[in-house]
Amino acid sequence: MAVNEPAPPRRPRPPRRAAIAARIPRGYSPALHLAAPTALGALVLAAAVWLLDDVEAVELLAVPATLLLAFAFEWWAHRSVLHRRAPLLGVLCERHEREHHLAFTAEDMALRSARELWLVLTPPYSALLVLALLLPLAAGAALLLSRDAALLGLATAMAFFVGYEWLHLAYHLPAESPVYRVPGLARLREHHRRHHDPRLMKRWNFNVTVPVFDIVHGTRWSPPPRTGA
Ligand SMILES: [Zn+2]
Ligand SMILES: [Zn+2]
Repeated sequence: MAVNEPAPPRRPRPPRRAAIAARIPRGYSPALHLAAPTALGALVLAAAVWLLDDVEAVELLAVPATLLLAFAFEWWAHRSVLHRRAPLLGVLCERHEREHHLAFTAEDMALRSARELWLVLTPPYSALLVLALLLPLAAGAALLLSRDAALLGLATAMAFFVGYEWLHLAYHLPAESPVYRVPGLARLREHHRRHHDPRLMKRWNFNVTVPVFDIVHGTRWSPPPRTGA
């Protein structure tokens, strides 16, 4: 580039945090947004456990099998729906990249107010949607496997969903929060924090709960080793 050549026009600045936060609906209730999916998850979990009848040891395998499927789904959906424009689901990518990732960057991960839960939790209807998708899957599993295996799978999947919400919320609390006394939580947060680097978000660290499928697919990003003395 010649010395006196004018600088290329700057790309438009991304909306600032305040502008994103201003889009949060006026009557938004952060407490309800957090409590309602948790209550629904607890209700489904309790109902499923109550309906269990003489569980055989082999049926308990439904719990780790469902967890594994949930980790795989989490990886796939985060990579292919939230960071790529999937047909009919582009709005989810838009919300995730233009709201969640612009509001919270790797250097600025913490919530500034309870209202910003809107930018962290999945949309308020998600828990009902997840349950609506799980019920036919559980019915299929009841026919193909057994009723108890299906109930255990349903309970595990709902518990995973609620666990996802709470873990993701924990990562977006201030780094000095007492929750990080829980062993392992700071490491999980660091995995997600790196995903919030805009240079990394489309390729790395897609698991939000436990990075099982980031390890399987080789998408777990680690800082390059320092060279020199
Ligand atoms: Zn996040
Ligand atoms: Zn993301």
